[in-house]
Amino acid sequence: MALQHFAGRHDGNRPLVAADTVDDLLPDLVALRRDLHAHPELAFEEKRTAGIVAAALRLLGLEVHEGLAGTGVVGTLRHGDSARTVGLRADMDALPIAEQSRLGHASRYAGVHHGCGHDGHTAMLLGAARQLARTRRFDGTVHFIFQPAEEGRGGARVMVEQGLFERFPCDAVYALHNWPDLPLGHAQTRPGAIMAAADRFDIVLRGHGGHAAQPHRTPDVLLAASQLVVQLNTIVSRRIDPGESAVLSVTRVAGGSSHNVLPAEATLTGTVRSFDAGAQDLIEAALRDAAAGVALAHGVEADVTYHRYYPATVNSEAEAQLALEAAAAAGLQASVAPRPAFTSEDFAFLLRERPGAYLWLGQGGERALHHPCYDFNDDALPHGVRWFCAVAERALPMDASSPTARR
Ligand SMILES: [Zn+2]
Ligand SMILES: [Zn+2]
Repeated sequence: MALQHFAGRHDGNRPLVAADTVDDLLPDLVALRRDLHAHPELAFEEKRTAGIVAAALRLLGLEVHEGLAGTGVVGTLRHGDSARTVGLRADMDALPIAEQSRLGHASRYAGVHHGCGHDGHTAMLLGAARQLARTRRFDGTVHFIFQPAEEGRGGARVMVEQGLFERFPCDAVYALHNWPDLPLGHAQTRPGAIMAAADRFDIVLRGHGGHAAQPHRTPDVLLAASQLVVQLNTIVSRRIDPGESAVLSVTRVAGGSSHNVLPAEATLTGTVRSFDAGAQDLIEAALRDAAAGVALAHGVEADVTYHRYYPATVNSEAEAQLALEAAAAAGLQASVAPRPAFTSEDFAFLLRERPGAYLWLGQGGERALHHPCYDFNDDALPHGVRWFCAVAERALPMDASSPTARR
């Protein structure tokens, strides 16, 4: 990677170029993004990626802190004398998927694929760091937060637990995700919930096993599991207020290995998605009751593990508005998202601690996130760079009496 070229010339605290030169940066940014795509790394293993991020930030003249949550990197850029601070976050990890595209920059690592576009997010935030380091049209401190392990492992939670906001105070935090359902050039967010809370459940039903020809001597864990699947599918429709949105899906049923043996054990696994903490509590309680009730009826034991791994991603109102204004200022078609998505996002852990907003950035294309042929759309790179810059410039206005000044 020609990072020296990417970083360009910079000169201490003096802005080099007042004009927006994102277009000049694009060839380098595309090369960087494709290099990250070709070298994807799984959660908490983002050593090469973190090394590139830290080196680029140092070349830009930022203060760089490595090692938070293992591979996390934070770059700090100060300008002016305002005490205001803002955090801009990107995720760096890839997925355990075998990439099936035939692209020149396809993954060189078997079974690992940037199938969620975090290569693009990382490149866009580095591009914004480069632009803001050059133009410096803000007054305050910007923390560029590069987090590991967004995909199910809660890298953001670990960064918070290891003192992210004590070491790098942020008045507010912002992040984006590329969004294939939105056309290129569009962006959406909304005040309140934008992504769901994600829970996982595992239920083990235990009997003692026996001969399939003597069902009267053996509690049938498979019959119990079958009834429990049906019972679980009634929870959202019968126990949750129809005005609420929630999903419960059983995704795995396992048990038995022979045609003439009643097994001693059956297991069910699934996920619950919700936006409201009350509904989440109700679903967990109803799931535990259903397992206990079915177990009692069949004379088996039920062992329930219920794990709430990501909370709902909830935008604060003023920051959601700032995110939309920044999107419009970045030349995007900005609109309020009509409803939240049922997928989840560990930026939620940052939004539990600080006000902020999460933006969907139009990516277009036919490939869904996590598809084996998915690739980040490089045409979206300048949009994300400009949005991050516009957010920082609005959150840290040079003239605090200007109409865009906040707090
Ligand atoms: Zn993902
Ligand atoms: Zn993602």
